[in-house]
Amino acid sequence: MYQKFNKRLEGQTALVTGSSSGIGSAVALAMAKEGANVIVNYVGDETGAIKVVDFINNDEVSGSAISIQADVSKEDQVQDMFQKGISHFGTIDILVNNAGLQKDAAFQDMTLAEWQKVIDVNLTGQFLCAREAIREFLKRGPRPEISAAIGKIICMSSVHEVIPWGGHANYAASKGGVMMLMKSMAQELGPKKIRINSIAPGAIKTPINKNAWDTPEAEKELLKLIPYNRVGETSDIGSVAAWLASDESDYIHGTTIFVDGGMTLYPGFYGNG
Ligand code: NAD
Repeated sequence: MYQKFNKRLEGQTALVTGSSSGIGSAVALAMAKEGANVIVNYVGDETGAIKVVDFINNDEVSGSAISIQADVSKEDQVQDMFQKGISHFGTIDILVNNAGLQKDAAFQDMTLAEWQKVIDVNLTGQFLCAREAIREFLKRGPRPEISAAIGKIICMSSVHEVIPWGGHANYAASKGGVMMLMKSMAQELGPKKIRINSIAPGAIKTPINKNAWDTPEAEKELLKLIPYNRVGETSDIGSVAAWLASDESDYIHGTTIFVDGGMTLYPGFYGNG
């Protein structure tokens, strides 16, 4: 049986978007291990979502999770998801805006549809979910016995909120947008005791970037960008997210935590550059 670490999230409910796979599923599990109820959002992969929910609910973790389907870029579906989640668990305390995708293309070949889809899911999706979460936090008000903040939002950004990425202009623009969305929300809502931050992963082994690490040659190339010399695992993000949602990090507000093995250290400049 899993030890529920410090039970740092006991009595709280976390909604993790896009958590039927990859980083989202590790974040969902990490929250559950800390005692939080978890809403596993998925858009198409019901089997993946059920697997995550079953894993959390089984004897090993003995947590409490449900899955809810919603496309985070659709306002009505997001509102419906929050309604269902709140009516099941009573409220939502933590939102992890994790859902995201890539549609890569050389700039001159990028279609409007490729541009728009990435902005819709990665940026507008974060706005829509954050707005519903904030409405719920404000409506419900403080529960100091549960958490110092009335609610917490973690935006899954990327090192590409600061590192330009040729061939991925839509993705880098969406994550740059997430940075300013997060900071603007944090500035506006801090006085209301809503705590908002981002996590910016570097290269983490998930389906989104499989071709960058799934052969030894590809992994060797990728490691040139990572001073700490290993590709990240999804649990590297899960553990930071659980801590960032807990009161242990209560004074961290409006910032991005880079979890990237040093990818943002300009490794190409090592030696003579
Ligand atoms: P992933 O493809 O496993 O996860 C993305 C999830 O988002 C999937 O479950 C997918 O179904 C879901 N999703 C896509 N469109 C959606 C929609 N419209 N509504 C709801 N869910 C939707 O890849 P991942 O690497 O786990 O990515 C998770 C997040 O981490 C993304 O925001 C990604 O940009 C970010 N990120 C990943 C890395 C990395 O190296 N893997 C690096 C930096 C940032």
